[in-house]
Amino acid sequence: MQGFLILGFLVILGGLYLWQNNQPAVTVAVPAATPTPGEAPPEAWQIALETQVAAAAMPLATPDLAATAFVPPTLPPVQTAVVMQPAQVPVTPWPTPTPFPTQDFGSSFDPTLYPSPTGVVVEEPSEVTGFSPPPEQVPLSPQINDHFWLIRPVDASANSASLFYYAFGSDGANDDFRVHHGIDIPNPTGEKIYAGGSGTVVYAGDGGKIVDTQDIDIYPSYGNVVVIEHDFGYRGQRIYTLYAHMAAILTEQGRYVEAGDVIGLIGGTGDVSGTHVHMEVRVGENKYFSVYNPLLWVAPFLGHGVVAGRVVGPNGDFADDVLVTLSRNGRVVQTTTTYMQPKKSGQRSGWHVVPDPVWQENFVLGDVPAGEDYEISVSMGGQRFADIIDVQTGTTHFVILGWEIAATPQAVD
Ligand SMILES: [Zn+2]
Repeated sequence: MQGFLILGFLVILGGLYLWQNNQPAVTVAVPAATPTPGEAPPEAWQIALETQVAAAAMPLATPDLAATAFVPPTLPPVQTAVVMQPAQVPVTPWPTPTPFPTQDFGSSFDPTLYPSPTGVVVEEPSEVTGFSPPPEQVPLSPQINDHFWLIRPVDASANSASLFYYAFGSDGANDDFRVHHGIDIPNPTGEKIYAGGSGTVVYAGDGGKIVDTQDIDIYPSYGNVVVIEHDFGYRGQRIYTLYAHMAAILTEQGRYVEAGDVIGLIGGTGDVSGTHVHMEVRVGENKYFSVYNPLLWVAPFLGHGVVAGRVVGPNGDFADDVLVTLSRNGRVVQTTTTYMQPKKSGQRSGWHVVPDPVWQENFVLGDVPAGEDYEISVSMGGQRFADIIDVQTGTTHFVILGWEIAATPQAVD
């Protein structure tokens, strides 16, 4: 009986719940307080309330679509037939190179008197006609083919050895340099540079002024450069020496200099990787492709000699870029590499450097201490060629290494 009562109560409760949730929601209207005219002025809170109600009842501003019609953005009008015109760049014309004053090296070559760097007026050089003996100061010719006629362009107390890894005629240790037309003597900036021999300064200036005329080759890579035409010749040919990369030039064109006169200071102008003097010996003509190995012209150290030689390839020709090793008592004394494409005898024009007309060498080792039983060797094509030589003071030892030159075929009747 009691269970029926509880069940009935629960059924009534659920029915009430369902009935109530099915009734529509009751809207409760709350009349706003409306002030009655003639009555007492409204309280402050009433005014505030009415203002809030009025604000809440204010409809949102309806955008006037007609007045603010949507206008899609327009792209700039496409121009048809547009011709691309390269912009006009102001062109600065290259300055016209000033022509190098032509030197008349004939009999009318008559330099005026110039005071020497010591202030003493020197005599006008005698007229050069073919071969003249070298200046008295530095003739060193123990053999007829030796011509050590130039002094070193730097003090004996400075570094006067040339860079072994960038020898004359070589293209550098890694074959990445231009073929060397001179020797490099590295020294700090400001070291004095001396004239290698007596003669007339035929160029003294910035190599940036390109000079490449019938008479002389000077290039911007030289930086500040001095060229001397010597007043002694070789087998009827003129000799020129060139000194490049100067920090300062201490002479001038036309001046007569003696061997040992200061002509400039070592620097790093032009194309250099360090401060040094680049020295060239030009024979016959004052040209870039008339360069001879300075180590055959600059006198070696006292008590030292020079080893020059020809490394011959299987075809009997110069063998290019071959490592030459000089050793003694099992120790390497010096190395160098053979010239790159030396100018061959009889060639009017060639490439790069010129072997000595007598020696016809393609390598030179300078400043070798005099002594006996040096071994000089090369390796080519899987073969080693070596010789045992003696080196004497102040002279050249010449050696040929390589394959035997093949006999010239003879015509058969
Ligand atoms: Zn050089």
